[in-house]
Amino acid sequence: MTSTTLAERLRELKNSSTQCKFGEILQTMDDECKDLVKQIISLPQDEPGAVSNVNLVLTLREEGFDIGRSTVSEHRRKVCACYKNGGTK
Ligand SMILES: [Zn+2]
Repeated sequence: MTSTTLAERLRELKNSSTQCKFGEILQTMDDECKDLVKQIISLPQDEPGAVSNVNLVLTLREEGFDIGRSTVSEHRRKVCACYKNGGTK
């Protein structure tokens, strides 16, 4: 392993840690969808009337987004990469 490769890898690691997969997918959506998703996940899953992670994932998957339930769950509970380093996304 050369030092160049290590630097590249570390840079990649650094960049990838700012956002989880769900955050990345959110960035690709148009503003209306982004807004709706944010509204959905702003309500904890166990609140009455909240959309479950399962239904959200199924809907996104039907639209071709490659996302898993644990990714959505972590983002919703704000324990994903987006919320590390004091991020506010
Ligand atoms: Zn996230």
